[in-house]
Order: sequence, then structure tokens, then C-alpha cells
Amino acid sequence: MMVCAIFYYLGIIIELIGWPKPQWEILSTVHDLHRLLFFVPVLYAAYIFRVRGAIVTAVISMLIFLHRATFISPYPESLLRPMAFVIILGGVGILTSKLLDNITERRRAEQALRESRDYLERLTNSMWDAVFSIKMPERVIEWANDSFRLIGYNPEECVGRTTEFLYPDKSEFLDFGNKLKNALAAGKDILHAEQLLKRKGGEVFPAEITTTVYKEKGEVARVTSIVRDITKRKRLEQLKEEFIGLVSHELRSPLTVITGAVNTVLTEGARLSPEETRQLLNDAASEADSLSHLLGNLLELSRVQANRLFLHTEAISVRKVIQDTVEEIKRQSSAHQFVVDLLRKVPSVYADELRMERILYNLLENAVKYSPQGGEIRVSVRPVEEHLVIGVSDQGIGISHADQAKLFRPFQRLEESRLDGVKGAGLGLLVCRRLVEAHGGRIWVESEPGRGSTFFFTMPLSHS
Ligand code: ADP
Repeated sequence: MMVCAIFYYLGIIIELIGWPKPQWEILSTVHDLHRLLFFVPVLYAAYIFRVRGAIVTAVISMLIFLHRATFISPYPESLLRPMAFVIILGGVGILTSKLLDNITERRRAEQALRESRDYLERLTNSMWDAVFSIKMPERVIEWANDSFRLIGYNPEECVGRTTEFLYPDKSEFLDFGNKLKNALAAGKDILHAEQLLKRKGGEVFPAEITTTVYKEKGEVARVTSIVRDITKRKRLEQLKEEFIGLVSHELRSPLTVITGAVNTVLTEGARLSPEETRQLLNDAASEADSLSHLLGNLLELSRVQANRLFLHTEAISVRKVIQDTVEEIKRQSSAHQFVVDLLRKVPSVYADELRMERILYNLLENAVKYSPQGGEIRVSVRPVEEHLVIGVSDQGIGISHADQAKLFRPFQRLEESRLDGVKGAGLGLLVCRRLVEAHGGRIWVESEPGRGSTFFFTMPLSHS
């Protein structure tokens, strides 16, 4: 603005110092031309400060022209000329700033749109669910995200196809269509449905489909579907059902024995010999014991599940724990030979005594269940580095290598034991694993089918 003003008043200075007339005339003509220079600051101000800047700069320019027009100019009638020029100047500045505003606004909106599209794309691509939109009524896939690979396809392979290829058969496809129709008839715009779907390789899997309907002029124009693979959830539900069945059976059978024995003693007591009465009560007591162990195992698992397994660790005598547990199990099975193979001086371990008893009990109970009567069950210990390794061996049915890999998992019962009709809920080894791991130890099995098994677990030595 300053530069313009100086340039503009060059004429006045020349006039004051009395330059010849022709020269003055040239400069006078130039005045009008170099007034155009004022566009530069006005446009600049419009660019930087928008409308307000353009107006302020135009007003300042007018003040500069006014001075010359009213007092110095030899053409006072030309006052209108600079005024009109300033109005044009201001107008151009305002229009320029408006235009710039619009352009910036549009650019900002485009940028925001691009960012939100990118964000949405990244979000949907990072999902475990396949997301796609379908054009209705032909159910043609318009768009699909990267996680469409969940179904085994590249998103591009699906675009332009009707969704029928996602279903294992026509009936499943029609079934979903009917559910959608019913939801729409009921005025719902969102449908959650469980459906069987098919991966590219042909594998059928259970899926949960969430479909959102978009209408145009009252008609369904497109729908967006989110497909979630629920194989794991279904497997868990099935496991839960199996578990409830198994546990209720395991709870019911000892209860039947207990109530039967107690009722017999109560009703037939007078006619029973003392020996028969003792036998019935012994049976009831032993079933009550196994019931209480099963419930104990369940409780431990629920504690682990809820992260509420707190150990009461202290230096404990391994000899005592082993002998007590073996005595307890002997009361359950007098038909096996128990050998406790301990060193003369067994080092003590740093453990929760009751939990260690439970581990041993579960392993000994299995040794009894899965080995023939008269068989030897041996408990041994050996210190290895900072741990004591405790082993429980039997001469029973043994476990194949393939089956060994399946052990220590929830509700895992091997086919043979199930077929042999041996009772069990598939919890004992899982509880052992959780308790041993809580002590910082590990548990494993060495076994050969038909030649017996040895389960080992480690407990930290108390001096370590
Ligand atoms: P269960 O209540 O069925 O005994 P566990 O978790 O204790 O549950 O054991 C899981 C499965 O491991 C058993 O069903 C059985 O098939 C197998 N198993 C466990 N211990 C032995 C063993 N000493 N000998 C052979 N098989 C065993």
C-alpha cells in the first residue's frame, strides 16, 4: 500500500519541483494507469483477510486518491473517476475474497470427505467382519471391504455378483431373503440373523449377519451387511451344553447311589445285617467324597475363569501331602496297589497345600479309573534344578501320542474312556494344569497305549 501511495504521489512531487508541462502530462496519464497498481494490495488483502481486508484497503486507497482529486489535481471534476475506480477496486476485492472463500470451503469439504472415507475404509478393513453393500432388489454386491477374505474371496471377486454364491444352497439364500422381507414388513430397518454361509473353498460356517436397509422414495435401494464368523461361539455353546449334560450326569449318579443307600438303611434298617448296613453307608460316603471332589474341581475352574484363584503358598512337606492323598484315594479303591517311592529326605516345596493335594488327587483318581484292578500305582519324586518333579504312574490303558496332545484342555475325554463307560467330566486334568501353572510349574504325560501312563508335574522347591 505504501509503495503504491509513493508511486502514486510521484506526480505531485514532480509537479512541485516544476518539471516541464509535457512531462507532467505524461505522468498525469500514467496516474490513471498506475492507479491499477492498487489492485495488488486490495487483492492481497482479500486473499489474506478476505472481505474485511478488501474493504479496508479500498477505503485507504480512496483516501489517497481523494487528497489528490480534491486539492492537487488540475481536474477537480474528475473526483468521480477515482471514486468509481475505488468502488470497482473494492468490488473486485470483495468478489475475489468471496470466490476464495468458496474455493477454500470446497477444498476443506473435499478434504474432510476424503479423510472420513479413508477412516471408514481403514476401519472396515481392520474389522474381523466382512462388510459389503448390496444393491436391491437383485441383491448385487456393489462394494466390499478387505476383510471379505474371511469368506475366502478378494473383495473385487464379489463385486457385481448376486449374493447367492455366499450361501451353501438355494434354500439358505431364500431363507435369508424371507427373514429380510419379514423384518421390512414389520417396519424394521436392521436385521440380525444367524445363517449358514459358504467360504470360497466350499467350507460351510455359521455366521451372524447384521443387515441395515437404506430406502429411497420408500423403496429399499441398498442394504449393508456385516458378516461375522461365529464358529468359535457356536463351538463354545456346544461345549457348554455338553459340559452341562456331562456334569449333571456326573452329579446325578453319585446322588442316586447316596439317596438309594440312605433310603435302604432307613427303610430296611431292621432287616439288614450290620455288615450290609456298613457297606451301604461306605458306598454313600465314597460317592459323597467323589461328588465333593467334582464340585471342588468346578469351583477351582470358576475361580481361574474369574481371575480369583489366590494361592496360600508356604513351605510344605511333600511326604505328608503324598501320604495323606494316597490314604484318601485308597479309601476309594482298595483294588489297586499303591507304592509311594520317596527319597529318604524329600525336600519341601513352596506351594498351596490344599491345591497340591487336589492335583495329586486328580492324577491318582485317573490312575485308578484308567488302570485295571490289581495294577500298581506309583508316586515318585525327584528334584530337578529349582523344582521337584512329582510323578504318578499307572499300568493302565495308556494314551496314544495323538491323544496326548488333546489332554489338559476343557472337557476333554478320550474316546476309549468314554466307550469303556468310565465316569468323568473331563475336568480333572484341566484343573491340574491350571493349578500347576498358578504355581509356576508345568505338567505333562509320558505314555504308551496298553503299557500305562505317567503324569508328571513340577512344584518350586522351597529353598529356591
Ligand atoms: P475325566 O473326568 O474324564 O477323567 P480328566 O480331565 O481327568 O477327566 O481326564 C481327561 C481324559 O484323559 C480322560 O477322560 C481319559 O480319557 C484321559 N486320561 C486321564 N488320565 C489317564 C490315565 N492315567 N490313563 C489313561 N487315560 C487317561
